[in-house]
Amino acid sequence: MANAELDDRGIVIACPACGRKNRFPYDRLATTSRCGQCKQPLPAPAAPIDVQRVSDFDRLIASASLPVVVDFWAPWCGPCRMVAPELTKVAARQAGRFLVVKVDTDSLAEIGDRFQIRSIPTMAVFADGREIARTTGARPAAEIEAFIHQAVPAPNYH
Ligand SMILES: [Zn+2]
Repeated sequence: MANAELDDRGIVIACPACGRKNRFPYDRLATTSRCGQCKQPLPAPAAPIDVQRVSDFDRLIASASLPVVVDFWAPWCGPCRMVAPELTKVAARQAGRFLVVKVDTDSLAEIGDRFQIRSIPTMAVFADGREIARTTGARPAAEIEAFIHQAVPAPNYH
């Protein structure tokens, strides 16, 4: 699984062929891309991405061209650990359709406070810069996908 991270401009992901880091700009997440070095096609992010900084989260939400599913979690939370592999499945199956990111509400308490996250895990769907749905509690991948499909208007989902 390629490891990806967010920076102020996009998602930085290592090319599976040559290892070179490439950036998917936030406003062009839905387009396919090629590695700047070896020119191989770059796969869309297919694993949950850990948010490291509040500013990256804000930039992502403001300009993402794909719906973003945010998992609010914390390391001490048992149900969060149960839902983590389910979210990994969702991210793999929905690569290129949705982006799945994880917000640790301990290390990024400012985000949890702003969205008034009262219990975890909470999963929220963001589109066009705003939250459009949220659900609380662990559940299997298929139910998470059903929740996302219900939240995202049909034209955005193929
Ligand atoms: Zn490459």
